[in-house]
Amino acid sequence: MTVLDQILQANRQFVARLPTDFPRAIPKPSKLPRRELAVFTCMDTRLVEFLEPAVGIRREDAVVIKNAGNSVTGPFEASIRSLILAVFELGVKEILVIGHEDCGAACTTPDGLTAKMLARGISPDAIKMIEGKLSAWLANIKNPEINVIQVVARIRANPLIPAEIPIHGLIFDPHGGKIRVIVDGYQPIP
Ligand SMILES: [Zn+2]
Repeated sequence: MTVLDQILQANRQFVARLPTDFPRAIPKPSKLPRRELAVFTCMDTRLVEFLEPAVGIRREDAVVIKNAGNSVTGPFEASIRSLILAVFELGVKEILVIGHEDCGAACTTPDGLTAKMLARGISPDAIKMIEGKLSAWLANIKNPEINVIQVVARIRANPLIPAEIPIHGLIFDPHGGKIRVIVDGYQPIP
């Protein structure tokens, strides 16, 4: 069975078992996310079905944005675009940047990644194109705590994000589920 077959089979079973009284999504436009929150976190698989319950976030409560190492690489890149939409279109009033301990993205090196790409037939010219950006990006996410502090600072300094929106920086333990506050968004950034 292919992966797509597995996904479709699981979906048929899921839909068939869904209780008739299951609260279906409220049609747009609607007052969502209910808790007016955006969570920006890592794509790590251990966070799936674990991070949201660990912080009491349920379906429709929050916008959840993910990428490798919860990184922000420019003033209008994908995560910032999503946050802009979350704030101005979806009514988000608070942002949580949640990095995590033991982040796989933090262990990735530019040389190691480049070698794997070359081995899979990616052209050296294409690698050359991203060389500087790749090292700068990976250097930024090397330490999950420093990364969270920097990402919060980058979002805070972004002129497209309203100044009154608190931006918190947290670190999540993907093993035990505990959260630590690194940046309290209610306090001014020193
Ligand atoms: Zn990660």
